[in-house]
Amino acid sequence: MSRATRASISLSALRHNLAIARQRAPRSQQLAIIKANGYGHGIEQVARALGTAEAFGVACLDEAIRLRQAGVSRAIVLLEGIVREADLDIVRAHRLSLVVHQSAQLAMLENSVGTPIPVWLKVDTGMGRLGFAVEQLAGAWSRLQACKGVEQPVRIMTHLANADDRTDTTTDKQLDCFATAVEGMDAELSVANSAGILGWPKSHGHWNRPGIMLYGVSPFNNDTAGDHGLRPVMQLHSELIAVNLHRAGDAVGYGGHWICPEAMPVGVVAIGYGDGYPRHVAPGTPVSLHGRQVPIIGTVSMDMLCLDLRDLPEAQIGDTVELWGDSLPVETIARQAGTIGYELLCQLTRRVRFDYVD
Ligand SMILES: *Cc1c(COP(=O)(O)O)cnc(C)c1O
Repeated sequence: MSRATRASISLSALRHNLAIARQRAPRSQQLAIIKANGYGHGIEQVARALGTAEAFGVACLDEAIRLRQAGVSRAIVLLEGIVREADLDIVRAHRLSLVVHQSAQLAMLENSVGTPIPVWLKVDTGMGRLGFAVEQLAGAWSRLQACKGVEQPVRIMTHLANADDRTDTTTDKQLDCFATAVEGMDAELSVANSAGILGWPKSHGHWNRPGIMLYGVSPFNNDTAGDHGLRPVMQLHSELIAVNLHRAGDAVGYGGHWICPEAMPVGVVAIGYGDGYPRHVAPGTPVSLHGRQVPIIGTVSMDMLCLDLRDLPEAQIGDTVELWGDSLPVETIARQAGTIGYELLCQLTRRVRFDYVD
């Protein structure tokens, strides 16, 4: 049998989470964000499951082309736009939409003829990453309106930097800044990412851009998906491949960082950082086994990790272990690893087998 380490992806959970995004912002259309291989879930399968979203957002041309080759016909927005003028031909050939965030991109569009390209003009209201400065917005807007190679009307967007923290005052400042910047411009607007949708109703626009929430993960720094009625899309499982009885004083794993305080059973699970499980989890980070939380002991290896089975001596070789999913939120494991759920989902490696279930 092939390695039991597998990610089971629930397509019905994806659809459910999209429905929550609609429920929480009923007047907005959904630009569903499926960059980075659908946050690690498989971009084609995710796009198919989210087929009722009004549009899809990806980071780069390669991702967009993959979607077109898979038969996805919806609008696809390149969130970073393009870097080279020659890419405009590819954008037109695949009927893609562009984010325009800097003047070099404006100039390319002004030089270009051909089928008009749908454009989202991006303004930087405090993220400090991509986007025209607020003072440049009106100028960029009128230049785009004059472009023959640009489909009208142009939409306007910005991105929130701190919306994951519901006590941070930056978000209100960004929202005020955006409202002032677009005053008098008759355009469709887009601000909200998942945190905006769930936590900042003032950020809802003609278009919202849900990402992480679609995968059943909370965008906030202090809660989990269940608090928002979201369902985890990924269940990450493996199995016990050994149960060893150790003596008091025995060391477990590389570096001998765990010393058995007494005679005890130690389980070995077939998953490690070579599968994308984080190596730097805090001591005592749990897995779920027989519906119970069992702590990891010692250093996570490339292919394996070890468990303290003192509270579960009945555990046996072949038993299923959940690393994250319905019994154990990925948010919890991410906090134990000093990161966010986004990163854990994106970093599973190709050794993990993916199963798609309804
Ligand atoms: C990734 C991304 C999103 C989605 O963010 P989530 O926090 O995953 O909801 C929205 N907008 C832009 C521009 C993005 O790059």
